[in-house]
Amino acid sequence: MSGYLCNVPLLNPLRTLAFADWRLGLDRPLLIAGPCSAESEEQVLGTARAIADGIPQVKVFRAGVWKPRTRPGGFEGAGDAALAWLKRVKAETGLLTMTEVAVPAHVEAALAAGIDMLWIGARTTPNPFSVQAIADALHGTDIPVFVKNPINPDTQLWVGAIERLADAGITRLAAVHRGFSWFERTPYRNSPMWEFPIRLKATFPQLELICDPSHIAGHPDRLAEIAQQALDLNFSGLMIETHCDPARACSDAQQQIRPAVLRTLLQGLVERAPRPGPDALEGLHELRDLIDQLDEEIAQKQASRMDIAERIGEFKLAHNVAILQPERWDHILRRQTALGGRIGLDPGFVRAFMNAIHEESIRRQTAVWERVPESSEDPAMKTRT
Ligand code: PEP
Ligand code: MN
Repeated sequence: MSGYLCNVPLLNPLRTLAFADWRLGLDRPLLIAGPCSAESEEQVLGTARAIADGIPQVKVFRAGVWKPRTRPGGFEGAGDAALAWLKRVKAETGLLTMTEVAVPAHVEAALAAGIDMLWIGARTTPNPFSVQAIADALHGTDIPVFVKNPINPDTQLWVGAIERLADAGITRLAAVHRGFSWFERTPYRNSPMWEFPIRLKATFPQLELICDPSHIAGHPDRLAEIAQQALDLNFSGLMIETHCDPARACSDAQQQIRPAVLRTLLQGLVERAPRPGPDALEGLHELRDLIDQLDEEIAQKQASRMDIAERIGEFKLAHNVAILQPERWDHILRRQTALGGRIGLDPGFVRAFMNAIHEESIRRQTAVWERVPESSEDPAMKTRT
């Protein structure tokens, strides 16, 4: 899968700052709310006032000024005129303002209007030309920038966009997980596929990562569950689409919630400490020691299994038997998933684990065959296909 980060050589270690060091009075969890699109001065200010008055934890007001539409003809945002509405939001409510930029002209207009933060949308992140053009326009500014994941599950494009901005000198940089478009039916508008943001975080541990449950859920019903999952996974904030009258919204009407609903949703969330406190640490150390021991045993068993796989490879070579034996593999998979089921292991996990082992085993057996020189007199070498 192209999304795996393990093989990505990183250009430079990122030098990005934690929210607390952005010199904007922010901390975790960073809460961002506001409508999908800026539609009118009344809608923008009405929503912002309700957020500022009722939900003091929200520090940033989002609104799309220029909207990327999948097909032409939809509402494309109010454009430059909306920048003045965001300025009023900041002046009246003290909320920081944020909008999406997709081309250098957006960057220039947003900077000129004093917008506090920018985000790069899921349709722009996967285009290196667009991201580079934005990065060039941002050179020398260090305005905070949030990079949404690309619509397709490809972590390297996400990493590439983040690196381009970091190379342009942006240190107040964060990533936004908004889910991935997926060809199979899923209960989400954009499937969360949590393993991708988790890998991003493993690659750039200091990079701030927030979640946009609105675009994942596509509906208010699952917002709270996704937001809680993000906090449980140590995400450092949330961006939630909030509109004073969602039913009449010009874009993403199905997923926006009223400020009062957001307030209740946030009250119901449980915040987790990013790291265990000193009291909890002792018990955690013991459990981690146990995990380390088990990991060591698993590694030793894997090495033994691979040694045997190589011996099987030699046997197959000597007897001119094909390396891949689908029935045998099918038998192993069935046996292991049944066994796993009896001891409480998820069948999907068992399959993924066994598939990784099988792939490596095939690779090792193939390597055994490749060690035998082409000119071998071994009759098996002459006849195998
Ligand atoms: C948005 O935030 O309104 C938006 C267009 O998001 P995305 O780029 O994640 O689709
Ligand atoms: Mn939206």
